[in-house]
Amino acid sequence: MERLQKVLAHAGVASRRKCEELIAQGRVTVDGAQITEMGHLVDPDKQVIAVDGKQVAVEQKVIILLNKPTAYMTTVSDPEGRRTVMSLLPKVAERLYPVGRLDYDTSGLLLFTNDGALTERLLHPSRDIEKVYRVTVEGQVDREARQRLAEGIELEDGVTAPAQVEMMRQGEESVVQIAIHEGRNRQVRRMFDALDLPVKRLKRIAFGPIALGHLKTGDWRLLAPSEWKALY
Ligand code: URA
Repeated sequence: MERLQKVLAHAGVASRRKCEELIAQGRVTVDGAQITEMGHLVDPDKQVIAVDGKQVAVEQKVIILLNKPTAYMTTVSDPEGRRTVMSLLPKVAERLYPVGRLDYDTSGLLLFTNDGALTERLLHPSRDIEKVYRVTVEGQVDREARQRLAEGIELEDGVTAPAQVEMMRQGEESVVQIAIHEGRNRQVRRMFDALDLPVKRLKRIAFGPIALGHLKTGDWRLLAPSEWKALY
């Protein structure tokens, strides 16, 4: 739910102050009922808002899931002219922004939305969202290494929070699945670097309740309604 004057201002009706005046003058209705109370809460996706009887077009909320390939920057534009993830998205009218970031060399699940409040909530440390990564490293990940990853690793910005570690393949090249609850810069790579296990490939396969599934690299899809609900 959002404040009526904010929804009106975001829809481009007028400045926030002018929208407050419109409300005070009794020119705004919500689902047909005149609203003059300031700060009235509305759901712009479900309710019809009108000014002087004319419906206000409220931007639809969109959430897109992309399977990011490697060698793409997670930015809206890159000053050095490198390819960005935005070039892989559909040309929708809404201004979409990535929810967090994946490194240039990391692939996998990346969400985009035009809902700034949702982005803020999902990235807030208190929300503690689990992110699952599939990590391919050079060499074997022995028991001690797995235990250290799980219990916490000393990095220059502090000890990492407990993680869940699952061994997928052990060999000259090993594959580990790790679930972390933080989102520090290059965190997974730094955790494995600290164990002298250089990361060869890194792919995010889940973000909270959302799984990458069988989406092909470079493809995107809209979230299903059940996934929306799980995120909010
Ligand atoms: N951890 C990393 O090291 N890189 C990413 O892109 C995401 C998590």
